[in-house]
Amino acid sequence: MNALAIPPRLLLGPGPGNLPPEVLAALAQPLLGHLDPVFLTLVEEVKEMLRRVFRTANPVTFPVSGTGSAGMEAALVNLLQPGDRVLVAVNGVFGVRLANLADRLGANTLRLESPWGRAFDRAAFLAAVASERPRLACLVNGETSTGVWQDPAGLAGPVHAAGGLLVVDCVTSLAGQEVAVDDWQADVVYAGTQKCLSCPPGLAPVTFSPRALEAFRARTQPVPSFYLDLGEILKYLDAGGGRAYHHTAPISMVYALHQALSLVLDEGLEARWQRHHDAAAQLITALAPLGFTPLVPEGERLHPLTTLKLPAGLDEAGLRRRLLVEEGIEIGGGLGPLAGTIWRIGLMGHNARPEHVERLVSTLKCLLGR
Ligand code: PLP
Repeated sequence: MNALAIPPRLLLGPGPGNLPPEVLAALAQPLLGHLDPVFLTLVEEVKEMLRRVFRTANPVTFPVSGTGSAGMEAALVNLLQPGDRVLVAVNGVFGVRLANLADRLGANTLRLESPWGRAFDRAAFLAAVASERPRLACLVNGETSTGVWQDPAGLAGPVHAAGGLLVVDCVTSLAGQEVAVDDWQADVVYAGTQKCLSCPPGLAPVTFSPRALEAFRARTQPVPSFYLDLGEILKYLDAGGGRAYHHTAPISMVYALHQALSLVLDEGLEARWQRHHDAAAQLITALAPLGFTPLVPEGERLHPLTTLKLPAGLDEAGLRRRLLVEEGIEIGGGLGPLAGTIWRIGLMGHNARPEHVERLVSTLKCLLGR
């Protein structure tokens, strides 16, 4: 068999993005067993670095095996029981996914629907919290399908007062735009590795607050998932717990995440958030003369993922295909009601750099004959 011949791509879609060379090198390190003391030291270091990146002191902070959706499922399967009320702010693909997952788990799901491309109405969310007293109140901090950023600050107090827990999806925001779990007083926050952490897809960093843990321990019914059962996972992860085997840790992905987190912390979170902000601003300014306009108003924008309305008459699918096949640059199209009307351009992690914006813009100008 021939060796793989993967074409080089500049990945400026909704994720994954390109990897820094240090992360690629980490993936090529020799395997260790998942109970090897050297590997377990790495796991402990990953947990500690994740606490710093999430800005939390939560002891239960770790990477779930699986992509971002596994983080979402880990949050819900461990905290919901059939019949529980769940409130979800729905204004994009990932709010829809959260609500559908709650349905599958037998929850009584209340969808707070709002237009795709705008942040949800906080007053309506809080009114629903007060009247419905949900077990879980869920929102997507960075809605990758629309490019909207939604502020979790100030919501946890009323959710807690109503006897519930606040769940926040930070798959696209973590390490790209401010995430502050303890300041938000959020109870479960999950993310993914392939966005602003610049790792391959395959792990889902999660953090559970002490309040969430207490709710988990008070369950009366078994967790309806073997793989994502927090109690079982903690028997392996808890350094004081004897390290019982549950499932084989994805060893190479843990190496990659260790390296990626070190790079994030070396850069500094504020500097990294600023870099994402600046790259998005550069992109919006550079594409304005070509007739691309932001879908999302300023103040509600997700910096790692910019959504742009297209100039009239553009063959968006054809142009996107030429960008990929002829020029090796991937960008994303719209989803759901936004299909065919917007582009989604990700400048995430390692890729949030002026030279990538310049390459995309100059290539587009060429293809458009401008
Ligand atoms: N939540 C958000 C906001 C996402 O952008 C994604 C993926 O793009 C997910 C959840 C699901 O993550 P994954 O596709 O890694 O399972």
